[in-house]
This record gives sequence, C-alpha cells and structure tokens, in this order.
Amino acid sequence: MYWEKYYLARNAPEALDLLAQFEGQARLIAGGTDLVIQLREGQKRARVLVDISGIEEMQYIKEDNGKIRIGALTTHRQLAASPLLRKTAPVLAQAAASVGSPQIRNVGTVGGNIVNAQPAADTAVALMALDATATIISAAGEREVPLTGLFAGVGKSNIDPTREMIKEFSFDVAPGRLVSAFGRIARRNALALPVLNVGVSLACDRQAQNLQKACVCVAPVAPVPLRATEAEQILINEPLNDRTLRAAAEAAARSARPRDSRLRGSAEYRIELVRVMTYRTLRNALQSLEGDAGA
Ligand SMILES: Cc1cc2nc3c(=O)[nH]c(=O)nc-3n(C[C@H](O)[C@H](O)[C@H](O)COP(=O)(O)OP(=O)(O)OC[C@H]3O[C@@H](n4cnc5c(N)ncnc54)[C@H](O)[C@@H]3O)c2cc1C
Repeated sequence: MYWEKYYLARNAPEALDLLAQFEGQARLIAGGTDLVIQLREGQKRARVLVDISGIEEMQYIKEDNGKIRIGALTTHRQLAASPLLRKTAPVLAQAAASVGSPQIRNVGTVGGNIVNAQPAADTAVALMALDATATIISAAGEREVPLTGLFAGVGKSNIDPTREMIKEFSFDVAPGRLVSAFGRIARRNALALPVLNVGVSLACDRQAQNLQKACVCVAPVAPVPLRATEAEQILINEPLNDRTLRAAAEAAARSARPRDSRLRGSAEYRIELVRVMTYRTLRNALQSLEGDAGA
C-alpha cells in the first residue's frame, strides 16, 4: 500500500485537526486523480491520507454581492454544467469542460487542480484570467492569496496540503459587463495535454467602447501560468477595435518563453500559437458583447 492510514473527514475543522495531529505526515486527498498516481510512482509520499471529497459544504458555486464564490471541492463536471458560470464566467465553465474525460471531471476538483500546479492546468488558466483569489484555512486561521501568488514552479504551489487547505476561490463579476472566453489547442479533444491554453476576461463600460480591465493568461509558456501584462495594458489603453486585439496578441506572444518540446512542438511554433490563439480568444469573448447589443 502507498499509505498506512486513511481517514474520511466529515468537515473542514475535522480535516485540519487530523493534519495537525499527524504533524506533516498526513496529506489531503480530494478526487485523487493526481495524487494517487504520484503516490504510486513515488513522486510524493504520505503516511496518512485525509480524504476531504465527502465534505459537501465545500462544493458550491454561488453569487454573493458582485462576487462569484466556488468551494474548492467543486468538481470539473459541476463547474462545466453550472448555468451561473456559463452566464457570468464562461472561461471557467469552458476550461472545466475540457479537462480529461467524463470520469476525471466527475471526481477531479478545482482545488486539486490548483494545488497540483501544472502550468497548463485548465482551471488554473481560467481562474488566473478571472483575477481570482483563493481563501486558505489552517490551524493558524484564514488567509486570502491572489491566484498569481499561488504558483511557485512546475508542480509546485505555495500551499502545503500537509498543514493547510484551500477553502474557496472568488472573483468579481460586477460592476460593468464582464465577458470571457477560453481557448485550447490539443492533439485531440479528450484526454490530451494542452499544447496551449488561453483564458481572457474583459470588463467593459456600458457602451462597450473601452475596457476597464483586461486579464489575459497563457500557458504552458513558462513554469507557471503566465499573465500577459503588456497585452492587458494595450487592451485597456487603446480603442477597442481589431487593430488593438492584434497588437495585444503580438504582445502576448512577445511575453511567452516556451521551450522546444517533443510533445508540444518547437518554441517558435508555440510562440506563433500564442499570437493566433490570444487573438481568437479575445474575439470570442467580445462576440458575446455583440450578441448582447443585437438582443
Ligand atoms: C487521465 C487524466 C487526465 C487528466 N486531464 C487533465 C486535463 O485535461 N486538464 C487538467 O488541468 N488536468 C488534468 N488531469 C489532472 C487532474 O485530473 C486535475 O489536476 C484534478 O483537478 C486534480 O484534482 P483532484 O481533486 O483529483 O486532486 P487530488 O489528486 O486529490 O490532489 C491533488 C493535490 O492537491 C492537494 N489538494 C487537493 N485538494 C486540496 C485542497 N482543497 N486544499 C489543499 N490541497 C488540496 C492534494 O494533497 C494533492 O497534492 C488529468 C488527470 C488524469 C489522471
């Protein structure tokens, strides 16, 4: 066996108590779709597992005073099927819908996807594009960390699942109009590593002539999901037209630092993909504004 003891936590305080009791020897497990493989392959070790997948009060998607709040144990299937997310933050519903296969989406959670910290993790790219914040709880209390501060490198997050737990993710959806979209290129539609993921969210004024805020995230083109800040500045400061979208896409490509990869293609090819996919994803997001105007 890859562990000695397995506990089923009934609620968050019980899970944190168990972690504290085993002083770094116990580790949280949610859907297990990453962790079980890593334990089996010896990449991670844990004497004790604390299963949090049955804590129903940590599975929710709700709107609360202009913010969307998502429990960390919400599964990819629940995110993909959520009418609230499809309406307010389609980038996240679309990202979750592209994870793995139905079996993986049924049990894999958004919290596990973030803590596992792969630079191309689908919901990581979407939550970065939504400028989301994570709420983390531990015996020491509660802290809020922007998603941009959670990733430390390939497979490394700044959360220690032997001592602390992500409780929820949140992001603003008001005031103004928020549109968003997700773009993904992979070798085939299911069960394939993304060659490139792009998430964008754009907040505009009522007339949709200028952007008040723009977030563009591309991955994997660096050890962590990359916010293309130069592209974001162009989108905010220039008039909203096709030329601006193209300039932003060029800027995103300039900020990308991919390596040559046997699986994903040459660095040169991947930089060109960043340009093409950023432009397409921005256009897709803005199309929902045109749809609104025509309605
Ligand atoms: C066949 C297959 C295909 C896949 N395809 C994709 C894909 O297309 N896109 C993609 O992004 N991913 C993919 N994955 C990866 C995986 O399914 C996701 O990363 C998933 O979201 C992980 O969630 P989990 O609940 O299973 O995490 P687990 O495996 O249970 O845990 C992962 C890590 O997070 C920690 N953890 C879990 N929950 C919490 C919490 N609330 N607080 C603190 N720490 C926590 C655990 O200790 C562990 O270190 C795939 C995996 C497989 C096996």
